[in-house]
Amino acid sequence: MAAIASLECSRCHHHLSAETAQTLCPLCAGSLYVRYDMDKLKKTAKRDEIAARAAASPASLGMWRYACVLPDVTPVTLGEGWTPLLHSKRYPGLYIKEEGANPTGTFKARGLGLAVTMAKHYGLQHLAVPSAGNAAGALAAYSAAADITAHIFMPQDVPFANYLEGIVYGADVTMVDGLISDCARMVAENMKAQKEANTPTSQAWFDISTLKEPFRVEGKKTMGYELVEQLGWQYPDAVFYPTGGGVGLIGMWKAFEEMEQLGWVSGKRPKMYALQASGCAPIAKAYAEHKPASEFFQNAATFAAGLRVPKPYADTIILDIVRESGGSALASPDDQILASILDWAKHEGIFLSPEGAAATAAYDTLIASGELKPTDKVVLFNTGAGLKYTDMTAEAMHLRRPLEKKAALPTSMPVGGIITPQ
Ligand SMILES: [Zn+2]
Repeated sequence: MAAIASLECSRCHHHLSAETAQTLCPLCAGSLYVRYDMDKLKKTAKRDEIAARAAASPASLGMWRYACVLPDVTPVTLGEGWTPLLHSKRYPGLYIKEEGANPTGTFKARGLGLAVTMAKHYGLQHLAVPSAGNAAGALAAYSAAADITAHIFMPQDVPFANYLEGIVYGADVTMVDGLISDCARMVAENMKAQKEANTPTSQAWFDISTLKEPFRVEGKKTMGYELVEQLGWQYPDAVFYPTGGGVGLIGMWKAFEEMEQLGWVSGKRPKMYALQASGCAPIAKAYAEHKPASEFFQNAATFAAGLRVPKPYADTIILDIVRESGGSALASPDDQILASILDWAKHEGIFLSPEGAAATAAYDTLIASGELKPTDKVVLFNTGAGLKYTDMTAEAMHLRRPLEKKAALPTSMPVGGIITPQ
């Protein structure tokens, strides 16, 4: 494993020690990145030893196969990471990174697996998070595994699975009449009150929000290492990433930079596509308007619950990466997202999350416009299992149990003629 050299501010490049738990840059409130001594790592971290070591050691489970480029700590692990890269049956260049195979059924397991690992290392006992749903579920699970108390705040209309997870894992759950931005405000208010009341450190909450501490990005970077290793240590032409808070996109870009420094990969980095739902598309809007930052997206509404992030904290970093890579940011309406869920389930056997289907819908759009060719090598992230959204997806389809009194199987899907009557 790698000793952390320092934590570096993504905005002003101020360096901090990682000896104690840190949140944001004390000078400019920028997000912090974990930095290692790369010259030293170059000598110790060998790309070609990873597979053999992972096969030989149970401690190299999942994303911990990349322990040589992760902090030197004892992992709190549930087997997150090393998810399948599935080749599309219809598009020769398209691969689906199936993050639904993670514990708690989503990619959130990577970032929160590492963030909770570090929280345990620092001796933190209370972790708080505002969440669109899946981060709350993952935090609840990893906190339970680490014997830490999780305080989770999520909109009251999140997928039912997220509420259930919070309860079964024994978290302190608050359902909020509002959006993730309202949840974030409530976490901040609680923490302010604790500070004013001089709450002892052992009882005070630590805010583990997206990009407000350095280790969720660090865990998510393993997605970048994995996709490159799974493609034979080569970059794809493009990465399609459903973007709510954008941690994974930022983490992958960091992974590419590290891998290049280590000599693990070379060539042109992939074009990064940030995909959103039209009902909440702050990044796509800022991209289209050539703006460096997003504006708060009013009246955010989409059944892709994980994309209901009206103002991502790291919007400027996301937009920089998308533009620097030559990619793009675009949004798809809910009816196209639903149509894409049904298309992929029926034709490929893959039950996408609505967020993943926002990416496949955008893929279809770009294939149709000619910006992409079916042979272009694309890695598209299905960030969660479709089964975590049974209530949302069934509702979008107007589907009820056949035995329910008033129930009737739909005679057609409400997707504006995209899907023919059943
Ligand atoms: Zn700073």
